[in-house]
Amino acid sequence: MPSRLSPETEAAVRARIAYFRDLGVFDLYRRAVAPAFMESATDTNSAPPFLSVTEEVTEEQSSLDAALPETPTSMPSAPALRAPVLSVLGEVFRPIAPKNRAAALQALREEIGDCTRCALAAGRHNLVFGDGDPNARLMFIGEGPGADEDAQGLPFVGRAGQLLNNMINAMGLRRDQVYIANIVKCRPPQNRVPEPVEANTCSPFLFRQIDIIRPEVIVALGSTAATYLLGAKSSLSALRGRIHHARGSKLIVTYHPAFLLRDPRQKKEAWADLQIAMSELGLKAPKAGSQ
Ligand code: URA
Repeated sequence: MPSRLSPETEAAVRARIAYFRDLGVFDLYRRAVAPAFMESATDTNSAPPFLSVTEEVTEEQSSLDAALPETPTSMPSAPALRAPVLSVLGEVFRPIAPKNRAAALQALREEIGDCTRCALAAGRHNLVFGDGDPNARLMFIGEGPGADEDAQGLPFVGRAGQLLNNMINAMGLRRDQVYIANIVKCRPPQNRVPEPVEANTCSPFLFRQIDIIRPEVIVALGSTAATYLLGAKSSLSALRGRIHHARGSKLIVTYHPAFLLRDPRQKKEAWADLQIAMSELGLKAPKAGSQ
């Protein structure tokens, strides 16, 4: 492997990245596996293929512009080959200062626009971007909007949302202190599971939300969220009860609130998962009757 790309190869890679950006694909990764892995992969021990390459910067250095890729300068050394393609060109993801995160999210929302990048656009009433504190330490990620969310343009506002609110309160937090989003931003017909092409088209925008917010902990609600955040499909029981990592955040996997509504006996298990998140965040459950 040469240590630098030739000018021709670099130009070709730049052109390919520009082509994907024009198509609405913004996050590109080097992977050793075939794209079809989403439907079949079971190896959850390997490192997530899309961990951000991050570099701490001071508030003064960081700005909304700093989120944009810098001019590529050099090739990384061999150990960086599992990093995003953009860093193959020497680009470094720069965290956004807390004071700029709301504006960065707004800019991303505007970039998504009146999205028609996948087939889900045809059936939606409202795109559900995400909601909550741009500086949240904790982020919840579900599967996709349901009917209530589609009607209101906000995530988790139906029955499952009520339960999620209770889960958040049980952790000693208010809903407005966390950030809530979904793998896909438009309602799948009949609330079906998003197709891989839909999730893979939409989730790069979610990944950019995560990169802006930089939560310490993400809670994946259900199997779809876990699959696309980890980049590998596995049973929920194999994923629950331990800490994973996604995009620089700790990731806890638990049951989707809609599942808990159907099978409330599993709430105890979900609470155990939430307690892992609480422990990582240094949170204590409020005393009974104090909320
Ligand atoms: N289920 C989800 O996965 N997300 C929502 O926003 C609502 C219900």
